[in-house]
Amino acid sequence: MKSAARDLRSLIKDVQDFPKKGIVFKDITPLLADAQAFADAIDQMAAPFADRGIALVAGIESRGFLLAGPVAQRLKAGVTLIRKKGKLPRKTVGVTYSLEYGEDSLEAHADAVPAGTKVLVVDDVLATGGTAAAACQLVEKLGGSVEGLSFLMELAFLRGRAKLDGREIRALLAY
Ligand code: AMP
Repeated sequence: MKSAARDLRSLIKDVQDFPKKGIVFKDITPLLADAQAFADAIDQMAAPFADRGIALVAGIESRGFLLAGPVAQRLKAGVTLIRKKGKLPRKTVGVTYSLEYGEDSLEAHADAVPAGTKVLVVDDVLATGGTAAAACQLVEKLGGSVEGLSFLMELAFLRGRAKLDGREIRALLAY
């Protein structure tokens, strides 16, 4: 039986003040540990992008990897990794983006996305949108085209969608 959004929501635990004061961390590990809920979440994340010619699903480090793999399997697509700086072993291409304080970088292998490839970007949480926007920029820098983005949840009060203007964004749950 399909898990309703309500059931998925009950498997995401709020952790106050993690990793620092003022942040409510959304812990998805109980959802990942529930076979039915995990499978249903993946089905629902993939469904809007079925039959869209997506050849690659780009997972954002690190929880995005856990979702990108099975979403890619549903879409009969491959998977590629978008990682923090310095983690990938071969030649990389990177993008730098600004955080509330300072900046951060994301990288992919330089040959990760063949020109013209249709890519779906996947992560667990859309918060301020900085990470997802950088991931899209990176895919496009490599020559791919971003067909859309799929998240388990969005923290709508942080208005991440504003940084992804014009892109197709799906999120199973909104807070
Ligand atoms: P942002 O760039 O602000 O949209 O942040 C998105 C990235 O940070 C994602 O990779 C999330 O996994 C992580 N993230 C941001 N906020 C949270 C949160 N409240 N709980 C869990 N993960 C978060």
